[in-house]
Parts: sequence; structure tokens; C-alpha cells
Amino acid sequence: MPVRVEHKHIDASAEALPRRTPPKAGELILEARNVTRKFGGLVANNNMSLQVKAGEILALIGPNGAGKSTMFNQLSGVDTPTSGEVLFMGQPVAGKDSRDIARMGMSRTFQHVKLLPTMSVLENVAIGAHLRGDKGVMASAWRMDRAEEARLLKEAARQIERVGLGEFMHAEAGSLALGQQRILEIARALCADPCLLLLDEPAAGLRHKEKQALGDLLRKLRSEGLATLIVEHDMDFVMNLVDRVVVMEFGQKIAEGLPDEIQKDPAVLEAYLGGVE
Ligand code: ADP
Ligand code: MG
Repeated sequence: MPVRVEHKHIDASAEALPRRTPPKAGELILEARNVTRKFGGLVANNNMSLQVKAGEILALIGPNGAGKSTMFNQLSGVDTPTSGEVLFMGQPVAGKDSRDIARMGMSRTFQHVKLLPTMSVLENVAIGAHLRGDKGVMASAWRMDRAEEARLLKEAARQIERVGLGEFMHAEAGSLALGQQRILEIARALCADPCLLLLDEPAAGLRHKEKQALGDLLRKLRSEGLATLIVEHDMDFVMNLVDRVVVMEFGQKIAEGLPDEIQKDPAVLEAYLGGVE
């Protein structure tokens, strides 16, 4: 059983944070145009183009080493293409810091902001809510005024309920199962009030039941209008979940289409069966 810690309490009367006006379903929100990323002589992404529309789940799949994570870093603005560009809500992401990008409505799970295992689920998620606050940097998270803290905790609690972790609100984050910790990271990303969520291999290491729970959550978020781009190596996980698939091999796009089409595509089958798996 998860260990209970109650460090912070939620003030239901705190003022709610402002919400952005979401883009209309089907509107183009993220676009990669001819993105190439070279590392010395290695071309990790070669002339990659893709689009994500509001409210859809797009999977970027391919065998290990295909260049998916590199592409994820170009899309999320963590890395800058050697040539080509990425536009989010019509604006280039290159040169913007992660806070600006989060404010524009693109949110990713933060691999560099690890869970604080002895802190509660609420406190861990509130770190994400802090990006929505008016006050400067992350370091000020524990020095903010009370009204501000109450608003952020209330937002964090709302996102925890939204992802279905309400019963673990005051549990130690480190005592949750891996699948629940992954979902906690999604709640943290949702605190930035995104219209696009980016996930790099969210199902990695999860058990079958946990993958199902994650898939169910992503479907629920889609029904609420959220778009998701999911980088995944596990074809089975994405095929019953996503609206469209882009397939990469050796840094390039080799196929794009509906999950049913992709599963029958000879080039895709060859990449998976004859590839480096
Ligand atoms: P995937 O996520 O599909 O498994 P990656 O994008 O991680 O693939 O890697 C694609 C290729 O780019 C690999 O050959 C990898 O070694 C190389 N690569 C990725 N990041 C770097 C880097 N920072 N420096 C040098 N090579 C890199
Ligand atoms: Mg990867």
C-alpha cells in the first residue's frame, strides 16, 4: 500500500487559474517542415515533415535507433534542427525556452524533473502547476505567497483527479507503482493547461494492465480535446489508440497513414521484422 504523507492541504475556495482558449478540433497546431538533424556525419533526422492537428493522437513509431527521440527533441524545442523548422501555433519553437513553449500550450513529460519520491503526489504535481504561476522560476516554488500556493495546489489537485489518481493525492510518490508514476508525470504536464501533450515512450517498462490504463487515460484526454504526439516503439500499444501514424526508419519517414493501413504496409513490416529489433 502507498505510504500516506500530508504536507499540504487543498483550499477549495482558492481562485482557479485562467484557462487558454483551446484551438478548434482539426486545426493545425504543430508542424515540422523538412527537419534535418545531423550529429557530425550521422543524419539522425533526414528531411522529416509531419503535422499534428488539434484533438488527435499521432504516433511516431519506428525501430530502435530510427531517430524518434531526436525528432521528439526537435518538436519540443529541446534541440534545434540543422535545417528545416518546427512551428507550434504558427510560431517557430527554435530558440524558445521550455517555459515559453509550455506557456504556448505544448507540454511534455519532464524526464529531467524526476519525481521527488518522499514528497506527496500533490506536491510533485504542483511543481508542474508552478509553470502556470505569475512568479519567476522553479526555485521560487517554495517561497511563493500563500494565495499563489493555494491556487497552484488547487490546480494540481484538479489534474490529479482528472487523471484518476485522486485516491493517491497524499501518498508518497515513490510508493506508487510504475504505471501510476507515469500517470503522475502526465498530471504534472497537464498543469500547464496544454493543447498538445508530447510523450516519449510512455508505455516503456509497463505491465499489460498499466498500458491499458495509460491508453484509457489518453483516450479520455482526447475526448476532452487534447492532442497528443506519442513516440513509441511498441506497435501493439499504439495501434488501437491513435488516429494516425508516422513511421520512421534510418532517420526518414517511410510511411504515414491510418493504423490499419500502416499495419499492412510492406515497408513498415520490413522495417520492424528485418530491422534492428
Ligand atoms: P530512437 O529514439 O528512434 O531509438 P534516437 O533519436 O535516440 O533513436 O537516435 C537516432 C540516432 O541518432 C542513433 O544512431 C543515435 O545514436 C544518434 N544520436 C541521438 N542523439 C545523439 C547525440 N546527442 N549525439 C550523437 N548521436 C546521437
Ligand atoms: Mg528513443
